[in-house]
Parts: sequence; C-alpha cells; structure tokens
Amino acid sequence: MVKAEGEAIAAGAEAQREETGAQPPRTLLPGATIGVLGGGQLGRMMALSGSAMGYRFVALDPAKDAPCGQVTPQITAAYNDRDAARELARRSDVITYEFENVDAGVAALLAEESYVPQGSALLYTTQHRLREKAAIEAAGVPVAPYRKVGSLAELEAAAADLGLPCVLKTATGGYDGKGQAVIRRPEELAAAFRQVAPGAQVPELVLEKFIAFQCEISVIAARSASGEVKSFPPAENIHVDNILHLSIVPARVPEEIQRRACELAERIVSGMKAVGLLAVEMFVTEDGELFVNELAPRPHNSGHYTMDACVTSQFEQHVRAICNLPLGDTKLLTPVVMVNVLGQHLDGAVQAACCANEEATRLGISPKLHIYGKTESKTGRKMGHINLLCKDTGDGLSWVEQTNLWRN
Ligand code: AMP
Repeated sequence: MVKAEGEAIAAGAEAQREETGAQPPRTLLPGATIGVLGGGQLGRMMALSGSAMGYRFVALDPAKDAPCGQVTPQITAAYNDRDAARELARRSDVITYEFENVDAGVAALLAEESYVPQGSALLYTTQHRLREKAAIEAAGVPVAPYRKVGSLAELEAAAADLGLPCVLKTATGGYDGKGQAVIRRPEELAAAFRQVAPGAQVPELVLEKFIAFQCEISVIAARSASGEVKSFPPAENIHVDNILHLSIVPARVPEEIQRRACELAERIVSGMKAVGLLAVEMFVTEDGELFVNELAPRPHNSGHYTMDACVTSQFEQHVRAICNLPLGDTKLLTPVVMVNVLGQHLDGAVQAACCANEEATRLGISPKLHIYGKTESKTGRKMGHINLLCKDTGDGLSWVEQTNLWRN
C-alpha cells in the first residue's frame, strides 16, 4: 500500500475515534455491574475473576445455557437485537465485549445509553485488516510488507512487487486461518484469488509477504481508562491446523526480544488509546526481527496461562482496566505451558488433569484444569485448557507429549 493511502486510513480511524470515541473515564468499584456482550468462555472467565473481586455481571448471548450464562445472569437474545442491547445497558454500570465482530449499530447504541470505556473505534479498526495494519504502522510498529488488492490484476501486480511467497487474506471476517491462501508460484495466483474472494464483486483483500518466522509469540497489553499501561510476558504459541495448541511461557526467545515485544505491544495499545486488553500477535524471524500480524481487543486464548501463572490474570486486568482501577502486577510466578482442550481431547484431558497422574508427579507438574461448560463437544471446538505449572517448560512439553492425548 502507498504511504498516503495508509495515512488516509489511519486518519479515518482517528476521525472515527473522535466521533464515536471513548467516554471520559469513570472509576467503578466492586459492587458495580459489568455487562458483557457475548456469553462464551472469555465472558465466563472474566465473570469468574471479576465476581471474586465483588463485581456483578450480566451477559447477553443468543444461546441458552451459554458458558458465561452458567455463572452470571444472562439476557438470551441475538447480538443485534436492539431491545436486548438496551436492557443490557439499563442493567449495567459499564459494558464490555468478549468478541470483536460486534454489530456497529449495537456498539453505537450501547455507547449512547451506557458507559462503554472501550468505545467503538478500536472495534472499527480491528475488524478490518487494512485499517488494523495502518493503525499499527501509525504507532511506529512494523508489520509484514503488504498491498491492498481488489482484483486479479491488482493481485498479480502486488505479487510482482512484493515477490513470492505471499499470503492472500480477506480484509474482513477471516479467522483461525480461514479466508486466506499461501501463494508460492505465479501460476497459483488465479486459484488463490478465486478461493479467497469467491463471488465478491469488488473484494477487499490484503496480500502480505510470507514471513519465514522462527516462532510466533503474543503479548497481552492492557491500558486503563485513565491511560496506565502494562503488558504480560510474551507467550510462544504453537498452532495445529490453525488452532492454538500450546502457549509456552517464558517464550523460548532471547530476553532482549521478549523486552522488545512488550515494548511494541505497549506502544500499540498507547498509540491506539485502547482501553482494556489488546492481544498483539507477532512473528519472530531468525534475525530477531518482529512483525505484528494481528490484534484482538479482548482477552485472548494465548493469555490463559496468566490465570494460574501470573500475579494478576488477564481477566482481572481487563476488569481493572475498564473499571479504571490501578492495573495489577503482571509478573510471571512460574514457568507454564498452556495446552488447549478441544472436543476430541476432552475426556482424556479431564482424566489426566483430575486423577492421579504418575507422569505429572514424576515431572513435578501441577496441571490446572479449566473447562468452559459448553453443552456440545465437537472435534476442533475449544472446550477448555490446562495450565501446566512446571519448573521448566521442557517438563510441561514432555507431559503433553507423554500423555498422548493431543495426537488427534
Ligand atoms: P492470521 O489469520 O493472520 O492470524 O493467520 C493465521 C496463521 O497463518 C498465522 O498464525 C501464521 O501461522 C500464518 N500466517 C499468517 N500470515 C502470515 C505471513 N505473512 N507469513 C507467514 N505466515 C503467516
């Protein structure tokens, strides 16, 4: 993308922020009610953590018996149901969300009728890859070289310009590797275009240079309503079939890179004037370069390790940030490996984590089990996770290997 265009998008996001932007900070002490748009596992863990501090919660979710609704009162209605959103606003002192594809109209309505310290500008930015990249660059943080693409001819020109291999992605709606294709040879361009933009008249796509990364890491940063900023130690993330499998903390990269990763994440959260948590996913190259890949303005799967391994969990930090309390200490108390429990792992993982497990005893590991209470277990569906507290992350990884549960 040409620089002027990037600046125009960043200016648009800024104008949007000014238009719909964050309300002046209010400090909300325990006893106040936090409304959560979305009733999945992130809302549930936020509610469990915030309830321990004395906050009350109410969630809005279309599914009966949603994970969050099992631990808090729930309004059961579609996310774009205006009356339900109004009821959420009426019952809450502050509103947050646990997913980013919040309907723009509902976000505006909530901001008008209640206190939404996160505003809607950050959602607007992170819902679109081009706006997100422009905002990251505006904060002075590197992203993989990229071009905006709207036609096959533009794709061919962009590929010639960037050089292959590249990754073609939809600007909106893609997640967990969906809506994207890796292109290694010029003859793959047309098929990738058809795959990523099937039927779209003027598709909005992004072509990114393929980064031959050594590993992927993420940093969860928090900014409170009054501007205090802190970040958690970087997690090294291993994906299987594009779904997060393991987070390893400390990440197995030099401390200097860990420090730089935290600095970049803090720069982004400050630059965007975000409130609440911002998960920042990055690639680390062999040369120690860092490129930011994606942002998520909410608690993140790769931050679940904080629940048992840090002084403050990401969920408590989010509550503190939106309620304008001082942010909690983010120090890591112990090495940890977080392993996700998908539908196909559920029974074995519960058994391994809850019953006597010789291997865990031998390795000196404490497995901390978190199950989300989803009523239907499916292959590939996130049902829970286990935080393996260990003396060395190598021991946690051996346990994952030896339990033989995660091979399918
Ligand atoms: P995303 O949907 O952008 O999070 O991408 C999903 C996964 O695809 C990432 O976790 C990476 O493993 C891989 N990926 C995405 N973009 C790139 C890139 N530019 N270079 C190399 N791998 C990438």
